[in-house]
Amino acid sequence: MISTISSSQQAIELEHRYGAHNYHPLPVVLKEGKGVFLWDVEQKRYYDFLSAYSAVNQGHCHPRIISALQQQAETLTLTSRAFHNNVLGMYEQYITEFFKYQKVLPINTGVEAVETAIKLCRKWGYEVKGIQQDQARIIVCEQNFHGRTTTIISFSGDPDAHDNFGPYTPGFTVIPYNDLEALSEVLKDPKVAGFLVEPIQGEAGVNVPDEGYLSQAAVLCKQQNVLFMADEVQTGIARTGKMLACDHEAVRPDILILGKALSGGTYPVSAVLADNHIMDVMRPGQHGSTFGGNPMAAKVAMAALDVVRDENLAENAAYLGAIFRDRMGALVESCDLLTKVRGKGLLNAVVINDTPESDTAWNICLKLKENGLLAKPTHGNIIRFAPPLVMTEEQLLECCDIIEQTINEMAEYK
Ligand code: PLP
Repeated sequence: MISTISSSQQAIELEHRYGAHNYHPLPVVLKEGKGVFLWDVEQKRYYDFLSAYSAVNQGHCHPRIISALQQQAETLTLTSRAFHNNVLGMYEQYITEFFKYQKVLPINTGVEAVETAIKLCRKWGYEVKGIQQDQARIIVCEQNFHGRTTTIISFSGDPDAHDNFGPYTPGFTVIPYNDLEALSEVLKDPKVAGFLVEPIQGEAGVNVPDEGYLSQAAVLCKQQNVLFMADEVQTGIARTGKMLACDHEAVRPDILILGKALSGGTYPVSAVLADNHIMDVMRPGQHGSTFGGNPMAAKVAMAALDVVRDENLAENAAYLGAIFRDRMGALVESCDLLTKVRGKGLLNAVVINDTPESDTAWNICLKLKENGLLAKPTHGNIIRFAPPLVMTEEQLLECCDIIEQTINEMAEYK
């Protein structure tokens, strides 16, 4: 057995040989991260422009979060929920006050939090709204990404995520994103229990809906006694320039789904928040997980949220995001390799002037890597740019230079 990795090539070969091929990573092997930077095994330094899909909003290995993790790791890591622990209640009070909900259901990964919300919504539909058994419907949007469990891929339009994993879970109606008319139409069905939506569609390529979409959608749901469920796993925790992306339109979801940056990328921590009249339908034994609500996760999440608030990361994301889109907007004007820049705060993407099947975006990401910046294409011809929110203005400007130089080089070469 190999006990040390001496080159990137060696690490890539090992993964290829012994690991399932369910990912297609950029050929870079990382061994260290600090703040906005990552280092590979050859000691080359990169700016991180993915932040582990927005899980590392607080920057890599944030000292306050790591310290909370270490202290709790030496004291008590897991009790399961068969017993109480002395941290969970404190955390539940902390997070519910932080996001202004009456109750939280703690869980681990983003997809588990979405599953939790779906179960909660259906149960509320039967026990509170009075929908006939097994008839509840949940409305979802085209191009959604909510994770990859069997139920959730049942309503995915992405053939890679969906095809050949049937039979599929029924009970979902798919409508176009950013289409209030379509939503209003399907909400007329009294069997609808909830509307599950990403405030910005991250994986689909940072699709930002029209202003007013979320607030109008929330009003329509309220009128029909349908739960508005916001999947803020990627958009939440300051990423888009507000604590929640829904805050841009002063929308308070009936069910709020959080994950990723809730731990600053140190540990899988996710949460579902709702008020008592919804959350109280869950009773003992009806939902849970061995690790959900463990004391280490609880301590880590409190530290991660403290960092976001104390370091004004939402404000920084809003400020730097505006600069980034200005710079990229100018590049779109001057270089015909790009057609568009879009996003909010530090969740942004550029659209490449090529077909989704082309490898242009991939090749740009390879060139960006050579030039010291790591980003990844999403949906073929789109590159998402989502650096840690602890970035400084000087660092952001340097990154804009790297991106401009790389795209211009690629445009010449093309
Ligand atoms: N929901 C959204 C909006 C996401 O972007 C993701 C992951 O990218 C998930 C859910 C799933 O989260 P996880 O990969 O932690 O299960």
